[in-house]
Amino acid sequence: MYDCIIIGAGIAGAVAARKLAEEKGKKVLVLERRDHIGGNCYDEVDGYGVLIHNYGPHIFHTGMEEVFAYLSRFTDWYLFGHEVVAKVDGRLIPIPFNLNTLHMVFEKEKAERLECKLIETYGEGSRVPIMKLRENEDADIREIADYVYENVFLRYTMKQWGQMPEEISPEVTGRVPVLISYDNRYFQDKYQGVPKDGFTPMFERMLAHENVTVRSGVDCKEVLTFSGEGIMLDGEPFSGDVIYTGALDELFDCKFGRLPYRSLRFDFEHYNQDSYQGHSVVNYTVSEDFTRITEFKFLTGQQDTDGTTIVKEYPFAYTGAEGEIPYYAILNEENQALYEKYRALTDGMKRFHLLGRLAEYKYYNIDAMTKKAMELADSL
Ligand SMILES: Cc1cc2nc3c(=O)[nH]c(=O)nc-3n(C[C@H](O)[C@H](O)[C@H](O)COP(=O)(O)OP(=O)(O)OC[C@H]3O[C@@H](n4cnc5c(N)ncnc54)[C@H](O)[C@@H]3O)c2cc1C
Repeated sequence: MYDCIIIGAGIAGAVAARKLAEEKGKKVLVLERRDHIGGNCYDEVDGYGVLIHNYGPHIFHTGMEEVFAYLSRFTDWYLFGHEVVAKVDGRLIPIPFNLNTLHMVFEKEKAERLECKLIETYGEGSRVPIMKLRENEDADIREIADYVYENVFLRYTMKQWGQMPEEISPEVTGRVPVLISYDNRYFQDKYQGVPKDGFTPMFERMLAHENVTVRSGVDCKEVLTFSGEGIMLDGEPFSGDVIYTGALDELFDCKFGRLPYRSLRFDFEHYNQDSYQGHSVVNYTVSEDFTRITEFKFLTGQQDTDGTTIVKEYPFAYTGAEGEIPYYAILNEENQALYEKYRALTDGMKRFHLLGRLAEYKYYNIDAMTKKAMELADSL
């Protein structure tokens, strides 16, 4: 009945499903264990009429024309230059730390001198990872590096990862740059924004194809059996392609131990006032136990609501307990080796493909995930 089974209706599963159904004429079954599609991009209107992102704020951003064009088939966009501020010593400063921030936190003459030095050393417009800046022996540059390290990086990173910055993979620390420019945008990609009427309608349109069947509220293990080389669907051998976007350790009942992740608790609050913080995202880089507060109406551009809903994010170590969601893979050699051990178990499984942030134990942005899913579907 089906040519292909996809486990998970997040961006990875949805893009692959649509492409296989539409371009290859495959009959695709999508199994999703949550009661909704969209994975972590899912959004919905809350009890107060405010469009919220249930799994944390998601801003689509990309420089990849083909990805933008593909997703634009299923949505119009509310495009903007996404800006983030951090609350430090009671005031809001732009981050990533850039030349605007420099002039806010150092007095005029000093800021001008430091600006010249940064441009001379790294070049105008460049992005310097904070750990690289700290290696510079020049006293002035070290002063900036120390400021950023203490006030923007250290406590935030410890909250986010539960580790000292030195213990964290350069892949992660490299994402915290200092920008040698006056660009306050958080990302420098050409396209930035959110689907005009929300992510969920975009997913609904993507999955609305006669060759796609979505069964939500179904854990794949209820209907699929993975044994040795073969995969069974409802007790019958299944010989088509299977794309798995769930957690790889769970597929094998965590028999070698759990892959470590950071999880998040989201505390939503609603206020009967026009605005709570006047910004879409405020990061708390030196104080509080939460990492950031998102005020949704400033992210989605929603105007037809008087009140406002915010969410505070509290990171914690994922344990696998009921209701917890693994969000961020913790990248280090030991965890990678454990992942490889699980991955090796799939070597003999013909036409079985691992795709997505969980199945690949890797951080992906939405655009990179879309691209990867497009490539996999093209290759089948
Ligand atoms: C807090 C947070 C904020 C983010 N913000 C951004 C952002 O601003 N911009 C950006 O580009 N990216 C952002 N991302 C990354 C983005 O969420 C990912 O790129 C995207 O979710 C990856 O999609 P996916 O399909 O791989 O995974 P998911 O979205 O997690 O989808 C996987 C799906 O598989 C389902 N599933 C798992 N196991 C099973 C099973 N056994 N049976 C059936 N179904 C199963 C899950 O329920 C889930 O719906 C953010 C991530 C987080 C955690």
